[in-house]
Amino acid sequence: MADVQNQLEQLKGAAGQLAQVEQQAAGEVEELRTLYRREAVERKGLYNKLLELQGNIRVFCRCRKSSTSGSCVETADDQELVVVQRGSRKKFHFDRVYPQSSTQVTNTWGALESTFIHLLSLIVHLLCACLPPPLPRQEEVFAGTLPVITSCVDGYNVCILAYGQTGSGKTYTMMGDKENPGVNIRSVRELLRICAGKETVSYTLKISMLEIYNDTLNDLLTKGGNAALDIRVQGKSVSAPGLTRIQVRTEADILGVMEMGEKNRKIASTKMNIQSSRSHLLVALEVEGSDEVSGLTSRGTLTLCDLAGSERISKTEAEGQRLVEAAAINKSLTALGQVFGALRCNALHVPFRNSKLTHLLQPSLSGDAKCCVFVNVSPDVTDAAETLSTLQFGAAIRQVSLGKATRNVAPAKNKETGGK
Ligand code: ADP
Ligand code: MG
Repeated sequence: MADVQNQLEQLKGAAGQLAQVEQQAAGEVEELRTLYRREAVERKGLYNKLLELQGNIRVFCRCRKSSTSGSCVETADDQELVVVQRGSRKKFHFDRVYPQSSTQVTNTWGALESTFIHLLSLIVHLLCACLPPPLPRQEEVFAGTLPVITSCVDGYNVCILAYGQTGSGKTYTMMGDKENPGVNIRSVRELLRICAGKETVSYTLKISMLEIYNDTLNDLLTKGGNAALDIRVQGKSVSAPGLTRIQVRTEADILGVMEMGEKNRKIASTKMNIQSSRSHLLVALEVEGSDEVSGLTSRGTLTLCDLAGSERISKTEAEGQRLVEAAAINKSLTALGQVFGALRCNALHVPFRNSKLTHLLQPSLSGDAKCCVFVNVSPDVTDAAETLSTLQFGAAIRQVSLGKATRNVAPAKNKETGGK
């Protein structure tokens, strides 16, 4: 009996100790949770500072390969591009310049071979074999946008735009082809990779896709064809009520939705007798993260935008529907330029509402956003005027620095965000 009592006392003592240890552990967990929260906020803050130092709008220039023998573009280094026109040389600087596709080099070697200078060709090939292989172009081009993808997962609105005349490589840059996927697919992959790497955060992703044609918004993900949408403003948020947003989990889901959107776009454009280059395409991925440890939720949107061709169509060349299209494109791209202009001089009023395009892009271009712009140009001598005008647009944008970025983060109970 005394034995049992003894054991009972021992057990009671052990239980007391256990409770004490448990209390201590709970305290430590809470302390770690606070530390984690502070560390996470600090990491994002530092990362954001770094991006602010680099500029919240980064401009990359991409030159497609020449389709004729004459090129009006020269690249001196990876940040400078020179346009040579009628003897004059105009220099432009960008955050990064991606020169003409390397396939040109292959063509040159091909030409050498065709002139039967086998020996020289052999030496050149041997030399080339000794050099490290160049990065595949599309991958290299995408690398510049990587920081904004991380920012989107952290809860910022980010936007990647492709600007340039028809045929300059906007769609190739954004969409690419099966063998050489472009920014859209690579950014989706990267976004999913970052999300998967954050063990304590669960993410919800929603995708929407729309087209702006003649200043009209068309939902590309509705089954019953296009539905024209309006824009609604509520506080800081700008949205298109009724726009289809599909929840997606995997790369295959996202690509499937994008394919469906492209198909709908084709059907609609055939019906209306328009070409895709005459409308702006916007793909938006909303990323909402809920951190189990810190209890914070964040919401960022990645907007991928393949703009309509920027070439100025003279009134004498266009009539009827083409003239209306040209006027609408002109108006929206001019509005885009005006918005960047107003941001550049810190104007109190930024004319976002001058076009549906800029109005929709407002959350991706105002204070709490980050933006990458690709200015795509053609090196052909015959395109020199358009190339110059595109480069001037890009150079003007580059001087813009957005206001201080604020992250769309809120405690779990209060899901108020400033996003779209
Ligand atoms: P845009 O969308 O500006 O009208 P596209 O992207 O459709 O122009 O490009 C026109 C053509 O040139 C397409 O056939 C495309 O595949 C090709 N192209 C454009 N840029 C490149 C590039 N950097 N490398 C290889 N092919 C390209
Ligand atoms: Mg295109």
